[in-house]
Amino acid sequence: MIVADRKVVSFHYTLSNAQGEELESTRDRQPMTYLHGARNIIPGLEKALVGKVAGDRFQVTIEPADAYGERRPGNIQRIPAKHIRDAKRLEPGQLVSIRTRRGPVQASVVKVGRFNVDVDANHPLSGQTLTFEVEVTAIRDATGEEITHGHVHGAGGVQH
Ligand code: ZN
Repeated sequence: MIVADRKVVSFHYTLSNAQGEELESTRDRQPMTYLHGARNIIPGLEKALVGKVAGDRFQVTIEPADAYGERRPGNIQRIPAKHIRDAKRLEPGQLVSIRTRRGPVQASVVKVGRFNVDVDANHPLSGQTLTFEVEVTAIRDATGEEITHGHVHGAGGVQH
């Protein structure tokens, strides 16, 4: 069986940035499991997995456009401190949830001022070229329900 649309794929990965620093790895936990063809993982990685079989190992380097996107300066916003709970206690780097027109968004604190807090809603990995070391561990057919829902159920997936 090969990786294609409507397959549920499990894989281990180690993610490194352009400086070769390891950012995260599934090696000490369960492999990542996703429904292929449902935009559950970044496009560059999904593309690289097409046609692979269980046991395949490979390395792929992905540009920001096919990963978490470019950093957008417009995603850094100045918010009145009174709109953020416990704003005085925030520190740079901390994650906060901010309300936007598109619903709540995770953002990291850039600067805490007396009246305002600057937050950055860019994904922490945006603007970065990422290298994944991948090992495909399992492939199975998705169930009809998984295809309808657009995600995996059961082990490694959504429980509901
Ligand atoms: Zn579901």
